[in-house]
Amino acid sequence: MVQSFDFGIIGAGPAGYTAALHAAAKGMSVVMFEKDCIGGVCLNRGCIPTKAILHSAELFEEMQNAQAVDIRCENLSVDYKAVVEHKNSVVERLRKSLELSLKNGSVVIRNSKAKIKSRTEIEADGEIYTCKNIIAACGASPRVLKGLEFDGEFILSSDDILKLETLPESILIVGSGAIGMEWARIFAAFRVHVTVVEASENLLPAADIEVSKRIERIFKSKKIRAYKSTVAEKVIDRKVYLSNGEVLTPEVVLVAAGRVPNSCEKVEGVTYLGDICGSIQLAHFAIKQAVELVDGIPFDKTLVPSVVYGNPEIAWIGKREQELEEGSYKKSMLLVSALGKSHCDNASEGFIKILSKDDKIIGAHIVSKEASAMIQEILIAMQNNISVSRLKEICFAHPTYSEGIFESLFKL
Ligand SMILES: Cc1cc2nc3c(=O)[nH]c(=O)nc-3n(C[C@H](O)[C@H](O)[C@H](O)COP(=O)(O)OP(=O)(O)OC[C@H]3O[C@@H](n4cnc5c(N)ncnc54)[C@H](O)[C@@H]3O)c2cc1C
Repeated sequence: MVQSFDFGIIGAGPAGYTAALHAAAKGMSVVMFEKDCIGGVCLNRGCIPTKAILHSAELFEEMQNAQAVDIRCENLSVDYKAVVEHKNSVVERLRKSLELSLKNGSVVIRNSKAKIKSRTEIEADGEIYTCKNIIAACGASPRVLKGLEFDGEFILSSDDILKLETLPESILIVGSGAIGMEWARIFAAFRVHVTVVEASENLLPAADIEVSKRIERIFKSKKIRAYKSTVAEKVIDRKVYLSNGEVLTPEVVLVAAGRVPNSCEKVEGVTYLGDICGSIQLAHFAIKQAVELVDGIPFDKTLVPSVVYGNPEIAWIGKREQELEEGSYKKSMLLVSALGKSHCDNASEGFIKILSKDDKIIGAHIVSKEASAMIQEILIAMQNNISVSRLKEICFAHPTYSEGIFESLFKL
């Protein structure tokens, strides 16, 4: 039997479900195919589960340091199995809520693997669905490194690591991108011995150079050992051989070396959204792409914020200092310790760095509690071409971390 829809969407991650919900809200008929779980990587194996575990880790870390604010927490311990169960319940709750929204929006869900037959036809479970528009939002999967192929026991992917039910004594994390950074700080907070190996000359290579340098300091304070310009070459008998000649024997290895787009038929006239495009692999980018397509609301692809969660948060937008010509820009650097709120919170690690040119902000790099929220304020100014002079007219609340942005403006 042939069934007809306005939209046929393959993949129910952020790109797929956003497109589905927005198209359905416009009164269009939508069928969405998902071979695994509704919510995609973001909800089931990415953004949400990691942040749920991170919250427990941060709380544990904060309680260990509670003496600094005269609270005594003695005999602290972690029931990691329960932490994982809590994470699962968060994911399930959000998945159910998303499934309900899709149902209420009359999106037809097919729990099956789909195949694009032509620009207007999708095949699933032997049935053909004709769709005026087809969206392929099939996502991406962890990159496999030669010599460090995942085995699910010793060499783990970001999917496998979520299945651990006990904390390891030690972990080697290969790659210091956002995923590696997040897990390094999660495990360090849980008092696991963490070592990070990064092939580039800087940690978190996508970040501004001063952010990378600050991470080294933060890692030291958290007793995270870091190797830069070093490659984990191979594993033999649970021993990891590094390019510098050292051999490490961690209890487990997490390989977090990027993600590769999933395979999907390439058909002209089909729209590809989200991680499958392989450019910016972030949930909010996927969501904005979907909104742009369905609602016709454009967005500036050069202004997509990056956030690395953990204590402290790291966030940035726009140009990095290392890509600017010397003398062609102005720079302000404000230490978070200059802000009253940071001392109240016992969270004075970090800085707010803003780069400007011709009275306009061209980049911002923040290492601070609440960096994820602050970067959004700067992004709104940048996208709307609000000058540094005009921003000075804005009244920032006190005491906040945001007032650090206000103070920074006077140094530009
Ligand atoms: C550990 C981790 C942490 C992350 N943290 C963040 C974060 O904090 N912030 C952020 O912005 N991003 C984060 N990301 C990235 C984010 O998860 C992705 O950018 C986002 O999920 C991409 O959405 P998507 O819709 O393109 O694809 P996905 O979420 O990957 O969804 C694609 C879906 O398509 C399905 N599918 C594939 N092929 C078929 C087929 N043939 N038929 C039916 N179904 C199919 C898959 O099963 C999958 O469910 C994280 C990723 C990881 C791994």
